[in-house]
Amino acid sequence: MGSHEVLRRVFGYDSYRGDQQEIVEHVIGGGDALVLMPTGGGKSLCYQIPSLVREGVGVVVSPLIALMQDQVDALRDLGVRAGFLNSTQYPDERSLVEAEFLAGELDLLYLAPERLRVEQTVRLLERGKIALFAIDEAHCVAQWGHDFRPDYLALSHLHERWPDVPRVALTATATAATHAEIAERLKLADAKHFVASFDRPNIQYRIVPKNEPKKQLLELLRNEHDGDAGIVYCLSRNSVEKTAEFLNQNGVKALPYHAGLDSGTRAKNQSRFLREDGLVMVATIAFGMGIDKPDVRFVAHLDLPKSVEGYYQETGRAGRDGLPSTAWLAYGLQDVVQQRKMIEDSDGDQQHRRRLVAHLDAMLALCETVECRRVQLLEYFGQGGEPCGNCDTCLVPPETWDGTVPAQKVLSTVYRLKNERRQKFGAGQTIDILLGRKTAKVIQFDHDTLSVFGIGTELNESGWRGVVRQLLAQGLLAVEGEYSTLVLTPGSEEVLYRGRKVLMRREPERAAKVRTAKPKKGEPVDMPAEAAPVFERLRAWRAATAKEQGVPAYVIFHDATLRQIAANAPGTLAELGTVNGVGENKLSKYGQQILDTLA
Ligand code: ADP
Ligand code: ZN
Repeated sequence: MGSHEVLRRVFGYDSYRGDQQEIVEHVIGGGDALVLMPTGGGKSLCYQIPSLVREGVGVVVSPLIALMQDQVDALRDLGVRAGFLNSTQYPDERSLVEAEFLAGELDLLYLAPERLRVEQTVRLLERGKIALFAIDEAHCVAQWGHDFRPDYLALSHLHERWPDVPRVALTATATAATHAEIAERLKLADAKHFVASFDRPNIQYRIVPKNEPKKQLLELLRNEHDGDAGIVYCLSRNSVEKTAEFLNQNGVKALPYHAGLDSGTRAKNQSRFLREDGLVMVATIAFGMGIDKPDVRFVAHLDLPKSVEGYYQETGRAGRDGLPSTAWLAYGLQDVVQQRKMIEDSDGDQQHRRRLVAHLDAMLALCETVECRRVQLLEYFGQGGEPCGNCDTCLVPPETWDGTVPAQKVLSTVYRLKNERRQKFGAGQTIDILLGRKTAKVIQFDHDTLSVFGIGTELNESGWRGVVRQLLAQGLLAVEGEYSTLVLTPGSEEVLYRGRKVLMRREPERAAKVRTAKPKKGEPVDMPAEAAPVFERLRAWRAATAKEQGVPAYVIFHDATLRQIAANAPGTLAELGTVNGVGENKLSKYGQQILDTLA
């Protein structure tokens, strides 16, 4: 079969997306490729189709052992002969897969990277015919903080052992430095680079001021994501537990996930999240790498991510199926104080700390921007764009205001408190002084006698917290020491003595709620209202079928496919076969059941 025929008959898709066709043809022709595509961009087809078209087995290296079974199940459901080898298998399961490989009965073989450091695996591979090597999650080879790095570094030898087998490395990590490092470490100097746009148009980005985060979250879920699957990220294990408990008490089915839970509980919660419809996973960032659940409808952050890269990766887990999804972050003064302090307390040299500061500053700039969030996000990755119309700042533009005078008031207060050596004061005391509040602590330290006492009645408490937050975000103020004492920076002095102006963001009165996301090209049109009950019936059929087979629901059909079926209401198998995502194997396996469900 040619590549288009495979696309149509096996996967049930009419056309390639983005660079897919070019990549597929390049690899089928024997070329090496480095593929940079956002999550949900469609990386899998870039090696799956060449594996089916080229002679031999496509060998896919992936660190995500826990997900291999699901990946292989999904392929088998398409009629693709797939298997995997990793450390979770019993020896006899492994020998079965090895035998299938040698007998030429596999199209695709998934391997954990550490397998390739075992000489026995290498010898096995040498006895079979290999169509290509796909190196998934290729950023694992890069320098910082990846568990699988030694195994990935060893992959540079593939090229020497199999000089004629094409290699395709894939990642959703968007930074140029990582690209260069992947190319170098994996010896992909001659590979063709394919860099897709990192835009995720179906994700609506929203960053809101944090007041009562749990309540705000619940409101979001109730108003916009009732019954949807989603991920809530929290910074600490403790807040993961509390938030999950809070959601459950309020009628939202939620599961916790963090490194403090034993591995059995973690695996069970992950598996339930993947398999059941409409669960919310409350997690630390330990959760999510490689999770390819397509129908995650929202990703909510209750704490500030440490970098734009992290934010992009985490929010990117929403909406892989291309349907409208929400990325929502609640952010406040305490986040800035806490993160600045964590950097100050961190181990590591000056250079390491400077890097952390740069990462945090970029994240803060994204939070405080009055421009389109998406444009700013993409600019961070070296890709620009036009204002998107699908982020909070586009939908309800915030205003800027000249905050120079309030900034000077805060900075003068901090300056006066600086002279008190014995005691350190944070944002709370500063604001109480500005507001002229005679609290016990103000009286105790005679702060009501300061010349700045009561000079800030033009703003209320939350207004002042916003000013302090933005000064911290802009580096015009800093925090220091155990009590997060506010301290002046070189920038503060420019504001106090050299006439530097400070522009601030005024939060819009009402939060953006308008959904204007248009489905991507090639994605189904949104369903007409009368199709909704049909969609629900199809979902129920899918849940039952998935349960029977012990696979996640999306392995049977994606939401997008079910929506299109509900909208088109096909009356025959032939009509059903034209729906995007219904290939030949699925048509013969499930076609009649679907028609029965529709009838
Ligand atoms: P990635 O690995 O890049 O995150 P996937 O390969 O999982 O993305 O693809 C994301 C989703 O897009 C999947 O649901 C996949 O079936 C779908 N998809 C990929 N390519 C196409 C295409 N050409 N037409 C329609 N759907 C596609
Ligand atoms: Zn925008």
